[in-house]
Amino acid sequence: MDRVYLDNHATTRVDPRVIDAMLPYFGERFGNPSSRAHPFGQEAADAVEAARESVAAAIGAEPREIVFTSGATESNRLAIDAIASSRPGARIVASAIEHKSILERVAGRAAVVRPGTHGIVDAGEMAEAMAPGTGLVALMAANNEIGTLQPLEEVGRACRAKGIALLCDATAAIGRIPFDVRRVPVDFLAFSAHKIYGPKGAGVLYVRSAAGRSVARPGTPNVPGIVGLARALALCVAERESEAARMLALRTRLLGRLSSGLAGVAVNGELERRLPGNLNVRFDGIDGRALPVMLEGIAVSSGAACSTGAAEPSHVLLAIGCSREQALASLRFGIGRFNTENDVDRAADIVIAAVRNLRDQGGFRRGSLESDRVLGKTSHADSL
Ligand code: PMP
Repeated sequence: MDRVYLDNHATTRVDPRVIDAMLPYFGERFGNPSSRAHPFGQEAADAVEAARESVAAAIGAEPREIVFTSGATESNRLAIDAIASSRPGARIVASAIEHKSILERVAGRAAVVRPGTHGIVDAGEMAEAMAPGTGLVALMAANNEIGTLQPLEEVGRACRAKGIALLCDATAAIGRIPFDVRRVPVDFLAFSAHKIYGPKGAGVLYVRSAAGRSVARPGTPNVPGIVGLARALALCVAERESEAARMLALRTRLLGRLSSGLAGVAVNGELERRLPGNLNVRFDGIDGRALPVMLEGIAVSSGAACSTGAAEPSHVLLAIGCSREQALASLRFGIGRFNTENDVDRAADIVIAAVRNLRDQGGFRRGSLESDRVLGKTSHADSL
């Protein structure tokens, strides 16, 4: 049976054009870029430098500001550790919906700012949290679970005014929304190739050089990964507008189908200010723990994190005011480049059947929901 992949926030399939760009660097161009004394090494070094220039151009940076890493987890960590070593004991401010690679790294030394129920942090509250002694603020460009876009420019201006470094985890946003470091005052920017139709194990840390910082990353560079990352980003930038329109149309179709097929469907987080390919919805009146196993044939993410083996509700959904039950009864759809209308229709059919089934088992009555009476069939999380 054909499987439908709608988990493009977790990872993406590598674009065949990216694979084509990478392949020579596994084969005939296998040199080590550190061995510039001979043509094998020189060829590899040239490829890495061309990739660096291409990535820099895509985000408005200088090539020397680009550090290639193994992915966004390492990029985030390098930035946090750079501040910790240049300003020992400095306080950190982070939004509560940052990725775990940030929250776990700053645990115990960070003031955490919660967003409202719409899933967007308030720039004023972030600024207020920047007490004296703060050395770093972490705010993502877009959330990877609910897709909401964050007020980076405003927070960046507040950081600038107070002389605080800003780390932006752009993993979910890069290539999907326009991003230029000449306009957005970030000091560090982290992202990963495997979320933008590139390979796993390649990422970027942009480090603003005007701030006098530099971050070194030792070891032999992952040449095919770096070449693939640069190609993947260039394709996303070149095709962003048409792709965004297509994603948005697919998302609108998916939400339309879900909310005409089911009562009690609510969008987690504000629908309008979010990534075009993201939809995160919860279904009232079901025991969500049973939902993932009923979704045979489609790959989506549940509102649970399974890092410990047990289903724990997503920290993002809890931070925007969902109850544990609501978080567990949520699904994240990540629509991507290779999805079609047919994928979305099939996914909607399977989800509708699963939710109806669970509601039948749990004694749910159509029309008995608050959201049915007050808001029509689909409510938005502003009402949480
Ligand atoms: N930040 C965000 C927002 C992410 O979604 C992810 C991947 N889930 C990461 C960081 C970590 O990226 P990587 O897998 O490249 O380490």
